[in-house]
Amino acid sequence: MSGSRPALATTLGAIVGADHVLTATAACAAYLVDERGLYDGRALAVVRPADCAETAAVVTACAAAGVGMVAQGGNTGYCGGATPGAGGGDEVVISLERLDRVRDLDRAGATITVEAGVTLAAVQAAAEAAGLLFPLAMGSQASCRIGGNLSTNAGGLAVLRYGMARDLTLGLEVVLPDGRVLDLLRALRKDNTGYDLKQLFIGAEGTLGIITAATLKLYPRPTQQLTLLATVGSPARALDLLGTLRAAVGDAVTSFEYLATDALARLEEAFPDALWPRPRAPCVLAECSGFGDDDTPLLTAVSAALDDLGLADVDLARSEQQRRTLWRMREQVPAAERHLGGSVKHDVTLPLAGLPEFLDHARDAVLARWPGSRLSVYGHFGDGNVHFNVLAPADHDPAAFRREHAAAITALVHDLAEAARGSFSAEHGIGQLKRHDLEHYRRGTEIELMRTLKRALDPRGLMNPGKLC
Ligand SMILES: Cc1cc2nc3c(=O)[nH]c(=O)nc-3n(C[C@H](O)[C@H](O)[C@H](O)COP(=O)(O)OP(=O)(O)OC[C@H]3O[C@@H](n4cnc5c(N)ncnc54)[C@H](O)[C@@H]3O)c2cc1C
Repeated sequence: MSGSRPALATTLGAIVGADHVLTATAACAAYLVDERGLYDGRALAVVRPADCAETAAVVTACAAAGVGMVAQGGNTGYCGGATPGAGGGDEVVISLERLDRVRDLDRAGATITVEAGVTLAAVQAAAEAAGLLFPLAMGSQASCRIGGNLSTNAGGLAVLRYGMARDLTLGLEVVLPDGRVLDLLRALRKDNTGYDLKQLFIGAEGTLGIITAATLKLYPRPTQQLTLLATVGSPARALDLLGTLRAAVGDAVTSFEYLATDALARLEEAFPDALWPRPRAPCVLAECSGFGDDDTPLLTAVSAALDDLGLADVDLARSEQQRRTLWRMREQVPAAERHLGGSVKHDVTLPLAGLPEFLDHARDAVLARWPGSRLSVYGHFGDGNVHFNVLAPADHDPAAFRREHAAAITALVHDLAEAARGSFSAEHGIGQLKRHDLEHYRRGTEIELMRTLKRALDPRGLMNPGKLC
């Protein structure tokens, strides 16, 4: 731990209690490294306020001292957004983990109001206890926290039906960079009163203020779930399946995940003994959900859609355990990459119709320039979002390969995505990792407007310095 601002540490201790101002190296360690181990930051202290009032007082004190602040939720982000800079160690990490209360659940209005530090899994559980559904879902849900989900505008596994974190948000409570509290915590589905200010803070990655609470939409809890793994053979056939399924059962298609042959190969290399199905050609993990006691109509419609396309190689989950096995297979792809030494990761999104061509071009281009490199291509295909990840050839040192080639591989993949009117960041955000890309691909009016907003809300640049724009 570096930096010597004992006066600020004492002030912060007076606000949150000395036990919640961490300065010892060991106590701070977990807050200073990001999920992927790409960034190793330094900080003056890690502060853990207990509520909105304490958070506001902490921000006021840091602003008075001219000290940069890094909000942190579950620290599961993929772009280093929650990690302080590696420089002078003169930033304060503000962990929201103690803001962990469910403030209100309104069954009739189907809304829940939670503090920023409630984990995503706990929001889901609170909704379930009331017989409702909070549909945001992702592999990190046991650890990531709702403030982090909103600040990254997280996507995940059910975007196709329910949208991203932004679409699930009705109201926010935010501490502004000067310590004022902006109370936008309204549970209204209609509210046309000027600019929709809450939208500014969603996806802002802690650069405009600190979210301390949110009012979120809940949904009826489906009573039927139909999960299947279908071997489709190609991305174009995956698109056909998506269209046919949606024509047959509409919005009941909740998740539509794609695994290319190379992602299946990485699973096989990393987990040869795993007890999940072993398709050898590109496949889709799709989940449809519905209501009522009788799931025969849903099953019949989905079966007819599969027949229409002549898809015979289909595993249909017949029990909750089988369903979990299929999902486990999909969710273990990132673990497989880690197991094999890590990958150069990409989180691109394309207009759906352009996805098959992009995948072909990107695969050909990467393999031509880095022969022997191993791909791992999978993702939330129904949203146009794929993770196009590149691993070192089997006989290369993975870390050395990444050090030497990551920048060029990423430029190639991002160039192709942007050229096809896609985006280099679908759901993981910018953080530290993709700042250069933001500057490169969003030049001109778009980035200038972002910077104008940043200057207007945070003129001294104290909120999450060195992140986003
Ligand atoms: C196994 C795994 C699977 C994942 N799957 C998905 C997926 O399917 N979809 C997806 O979108 N992401 C996914 N992620 C990435 C990550 O979980 C999400 O980005 C998540 O939303 C981050 O939440 P967090 O609480 O961990 O935020 P953190 O990592 O703590 O912070 C992320 C950013 O938000 C800011 N921030 C955090 N809390 C606040 C706050 N209260 N106010 C203001 N700013 C704040 C931070 O400063 C930082 O810039 C996955 C990660 C893992 C490890």
